[in-house]
Amino acid sequence: MLSVTFLGTSAARPTVERNVSAMALVREGETLLFECGEGTQRQMMRYGVSFALGEIFFTHFHADHFLGVIGLVRTLGLQARAEPLRLYGPKGANKLLTQALQLGVERVPFNVEIEEVKPGAVLRMTENGQRDGYEIDVFGTEHGGGSVGYALREHQRRGRFDVEKARAAGIPEGPLWGKLSKGEPIELADGRQLTPDRFVGPKRPGRLVVFTGDTRPCASVVDAAQGADLLIHEATFGEEEKDRAKETGHATAREAAQVALAARARRLVLSHVSARYSLSAEELVTEARLVFPETVVARDGMTVEVPYSE
Ligand SMILES: [Zn+2]
Ligand SMILES: [Zn+2]
Repeated sequence: MLSVTFLGTSAARPTVERNVSAMALVREGETLLFECGEGTQRQMMRYGVSFALGEIFFTHFHADHFLGVIGLVRTLGLQARAEPLRLYGPKGANKLLTQALQLGVERVPFNVEIEEVKPGAVLRMTENGQRDGYEIDVFGTEHGGGSVGYALREHQRRGRFDVEKARAAGIPEGPLWGKLSKGEPIELADGRQLTPDRFVGPKRPGRLVVFTGDTRPCASVVDAAQGADLLIHEATFGEEEKDRAKETGHATAREAAQVALAARARRLVLSHVSARYSLSAEELVTEARLVFPETVVARDGMTVEVPYSE
């Protein structure tokens, strides 16, 4: 299972309906947090996101994307957390997050590690060793100050085991099926030796979920999101304010849709919307769907499941 829950979808400041940026990704029971705007811990409680998380990924250090880490880490400390927490962010992460974490607490009672990341980095390890079946790719975005986005890329999966062929070949159901489906050769009771290639189909792609954070539409996002099962792109503005989007380093809904189209993504979710779209973001949806029909605008508390494409 892989799903994404939007904890905050408002740009720059919270509104009555929407909190500032944060998104929880849950995969096989593991929770990863992307951004942690002010008030994120309360949004996690409201929408049932586990506090047992090991990592938070920041795209850049504008206040609406990270101030929530101060309160969240304090609460984790009050809960007598012992496990370490790892924070990732672009250049400047060390200084900024260290300062943030020293605010309002004498001492964080567990280990917090900060890792500065650069575009092109591939994050394969967690605190507990190798990531299980996926990696996090870091890519550059255009929002100033070395901003980055993150792509969760699952490894290829085994091919499909062809039950009919196995039966037809007289292989008894049980451990031998298991061996073949894992790609191991087997020997039958009658001495026949069989290799898995006849019974197992080609490897199947894993899933790709791409999170841009704040950015202008740009080629590095198109590259990172090639064939993405889910692209989560900021869309602060509508067409009416496309000049303002350019001036402030943000994207319009239409521009985000063009990126999704160029990347041949399967689905696009728009987030980080200006306060004027807080109640209704229909205008953004309409503009984006003219370019890329598989588009929705995120709401706080919305969960999107990401199935395998095959
Ligand atoms: Zn922002
Ligand atoms: Zn920003």
